[in-house]
Formats: sequence, C-alpha cells, structure tokens
Amino acid sequence: MLKVDLHSHSYASDGTLSPSDLLLRAGKQKLDILALTDHDTTEGLEEAADAAKTHRIKLIKGVEISCIWNKSTIHVVALGIDKSSFTLQKLLTKMYAAREQRAKKIGDKLEKQGITDAYQKARSMCKDGLLTRTHYARMLVDNNHAKDMKQSFKKYLTKGKPGFVKGKWAELKDVIKVIQAAGGVPIIAHPLRYKMTNTKLNTLFSEFKNFGGTGIEVVNAGNNPDKTKFLARLCNEYDFFASQGSDFHSPGGFIELGKIPPLPNSCRPIWNQL
Ligand code: AMP
Ligand code: MN
Ligand code: MN
Ligand code: MN
Repeated sequence: MLKVDLHSHSYASDGTLSPSDLLLRAGKQKLDILALTDHDTTEGLEEAADAAKTHRIKLIKGVEISCIWNKSTIHVVALGIDKSSFTLQKLLTKMYAAREQRAKKIGDKLEKQGITDAYQKARSMCKDGLLTRTHYARMLVDNNHAKDMKQSFKKYLTKGKPGFVKGKWAELKDVIKVIQAAGGVPIIAHPLRYKMTNTKLNTLFSEFKNFGGTGIEVVNAGNNPDKTKFLARLCNEYDFFASQGSDFHSPGGFIELGKIPPLPNSCRPIWNQL
C-alpha cells in the first residue's frame, strides 16, 4: 500500500523545517507521495521538488488557502497546482499584503498588553516570509508570555482574546475558481476543526460541491476512528474524493509527518487522480 501524506508545512509558512528537511523526513518515514501545502504561499515548492527527486518521493505541489465561507475562516488545500499560474500568484500576493496588515494589527494589540516590539519580534522569526499567528504564538512562548503554543493561542490569539484579528481572506467560491485556473483540485481541509453543527457542515459541503469542489480531508492525524468514519460517510454522500494528511508543522510535537490512520476502503482516494 502506498504511504501518502497530502498536507504538510515548511518554514515557507508556519512550519519549522526547510522544504529540503521536510523531504528528508518524508524519506525517513518511507513516504511514497507527499504534498507540501504551505499556508497561502508557493515559495517552498521549488526547493521541495528538487529534494523530492533526491529522495525518490512523488511531490504533489500544493497550497493551503485561507478563505471565508459564511463569515468564518476555512482552509482549502489545493493539490496539483501550477505555481506559475498568474491568477493564483495574484491572489497569493494580495494575501501576503492582507497578512502583513493583519500581523501589524495583532502587534499593536499585543503592545497594549505590555508586550513590547511584538510585531518586530514576530517578524524576525520568519525574515521577510509570510507572517502567521503561529509565529506570534512562538514569539509569545520565547518571551515567557505563555508556557506553550496551546496557551499562546488560548490566552492571546483566538477569537475574543486580546491579540485576535480576523483575517480578510477571499470568499470560498472565488478561491475555488483560482485553484481550478491553476490546474489544481480544491479539498476542504480538516472539516471538523471549524466546530460547525452538522447542519452547517452539510451546507458547507453542498455549497462547496456546487462551487466545483473536489474533495474533503477524511483522515487527519488528530481524528479518532469515529470522526474518520463520520467524514467517510459524508465524503461518499457528496460524491467527493477523499484526502488524507498529517498537517505536520514541526518535529517534536504530537503530530508526525506521514503518521496517519488508514483511509476507509469505501472512499475514493484523491491521489489516484493527481
Ligand atoms: P493564521 O492562518 O495566521 O490565522 O494561523 C493559523 C495557524 O495557527 C494554523 O494553521 C495552525 O497551524 C495554528 N494554530 C491555530 N490554533 C492553534 C492552537 N490552538 N495551537 C497550535 N497552533 C494553532
Ligand atoms: Mn499552520
Ligand atoms: Mn489548516
Ligand atoms: Mn495545515
């Protein structure tokens, strides 16, 4: 059976490994297929493609795009994209600017909490790269404002907390068009992490289907067997393809690259289509 992980991050977004080190790790985990799906950037893909050749791994070029559906943020993993797509890069350039504006606002809010030079400190964690809440969370831990990442988010960075600023992302239906223009397939990432009611989740899936969505992530590193079964059933109900991914960000955590439960037999795997 093929070992497949279609959701992972490098330091081009909020992971900690370089794309080369990510592929090295994928080799050690004996992965056959890996998708690099950094948040809102394709900057890591070239290096990843070179390293994939060295380690004889099939690299799927991807990107995890933040978007808005029904006023909430959801993540769509785009798989098999042509990163030279003008339409795609136009969106990602806009997103970089939106993230920069948001990061500055987060910095201002944290300053008001007595955290000095918050923006500069977070900025220095990723040079001129894409700045995410994860960088802020790491900065808060490094500067002893939180004991770990989980607490950073809980204390400062989630909705209702003093450092929270909502992202100004594009609408889901527009993001799907951009992904398709770049030759990629849109997949809803970690569907259960949005904490929607079942009714709302069904509405999301049916609208996603109508907008041209291709699949959903049925298997995540964090999902228990019941959740996987639940998602597998919905996946087939909507005639979606199924994806699986660890959402690996960094070594030493609870989630390891490639370590994911198997996809239920009833599902049609997306990797046969890529
Ligand atoms: P952003 O796209 O800038 O809003 O940042 C979102 C990222 O923050 C996600 O992709 C996760 O990697 C990370 N994240 C969100 N919530 C948590 C949490 N409770 N603990 C650790 N990381 C989190
Ligand atoms: Mn992330
Ligand atoms: Mn995500
Ligand atoms: Mn992710």
